Amino acid sequence: MFELDDHYQAIQEEARAVADAVAPFAVEADASNEIYAPVLDALRASSLSELMVPRAHGGRDESPDPLAITLVREAFMYESSHLDSIFALQGIGSYAISVAGTAAQQAEWLPKVASAEALAAIALTEPVAGSDLKSITTTAEIDGDEAVINGDKAFISNGAAATFFTTFVREGDGYSLFLVPADTPGVSVTPVPELMAPHVLGDVHYDNVRVPVSARIGEPGKGLSHVLATLTVFRVSVAGAACGLAQGALEEATRHARTRQQFGRPLAKLGPVASLLADAWTDLEAARLLTYRAAARARDGYPGTLEHSSMAKVFATEAACRIVDRCVQVMGRWGVIRDSKVERCYRQARPMRIYEGASEVLRLGIARQLTLEVE
Ligand SMILES: Cc1cc2nc3c(=O)[nH]c(=O)nc-3n(C[C@H](O)[C@H](O)[C@H](O)COP(=O)(O)OP(=O)(O)OC[C@H]3O[C@@H](n4cnc5c(N)ncnc54)[C@H](O)[C@@H]3O)c2cc1C
Repeated sequence: MFELDDHYQAIQEEARAVADAVAPFAVEADASNEIYAPVLDALRASSLSELMVPRAHGGRDESPDPLAITLVREAFMYESSHLDSIFALQGIGSYAISVAGTAAQQAEWLPKVASAEALAAIALTEPVAGSDLKSITTTAEIDGDEAVINGDKAFISNGAAATFFTTFVREGDGYSLFLVPADTPGVSVTPVPELMAPHVLGDVHYDNVRVPVSARIGEPGKGLSHVLATLTVFRVSVAGAACGLAQGALEEATRHARTRQQFGRPLAKLGPVASLLADAWTDLEAARLLTYRAAARARDGYPGTLEHSSMAKVFATEAACRIVDRCVQVMGRWGVIRDSKVERCYRQARPMRIYEGASEVLRLGIARQLTLEVE
């Protein structure tokens, strides 16, 4: 796939219009550890969160389309990580409900996710359990027709702003997901240390939290497979966001290199600077091709989708870091000014190699798939 068709180009245009509307306050929004209301208002006004749920529950497509979501994240991250994050979480936090939730859960929550009236969150990580998700210690114990949840989750996006947490727990010998509204007694959220690139985050505590057994998402013991299903759809969209971020940085550095003169010539005419720009552009094109293809494969349900999404995520996030680093170099002293476009991208690119599957862990999965295929 080399060109996007009219349908996808229209989605891109729609997303770019929202990003343009957010641009005037993107610096303030991206510096915020709390939801920045004008950004949420812009997202709500756009109705693009409808991409995150099935049509039957207020969504746009029969089921969430990974390519459409990837394109929106690319356009959003080009301008604002805050906008990108709020949008992304609507899908990542609710997808398990879309694919495995009860009719009652879907009817109650998905339309509110589609309108961004409810903010979704996914609570997997714990103070000890990170990449090794199976080492979680949060538990759900069944007591009559209720589940009692105890444990701590760490670094949960949307934190105190979330309306509900799709919560990954141990249940008996297996793992399950529960839909826990944020206002359930016993749920509390505390702040996390400030990050290099601010992000709406919180540690979430479950202290004898009682929810009806009907709050379980899917069958008991099937939690991990719903988490994997979520990653299959959404991991590639992180790659899209990385492409958008890199595009924004590269455009800024290119403008600078064309206009700033040293030694009687624009920087862009100085060989090593031209090389930095050329390598950055090449990296970006490669990342985007891999990303769009992986997203299209995820949409069409090809086997090995998760590994292709992982490849796109590893390559695009690592490329984004390389690209932004080169852009800082091209910008010279202007590249290190706090909250300038390129400096902001420099800080925002780095965590992308850690969340939704750290690069090293994804490489293990990619290699596992490769060696299985040749065995
Ligand atoms: C901005 C941000 C937002 C986040 N939002 C959420 C959220 O909404 N919900 C949520 O549940 N979590 C969230 N997280 C947490 C995130 O999912 C974890 O940080 C991630 O899973 C990695 O876990 P860890 O940080 O504990 O690192 P570790 O698992 O401790 O990994 C540390 C290093 O060791 C490497 N490593 C680990 N295991 C292996 C292995 N087997 N082989 C080789 N290398 C390995 C990793 O690649 C990494 O380089 C967020 C994190 C950030 C930074």
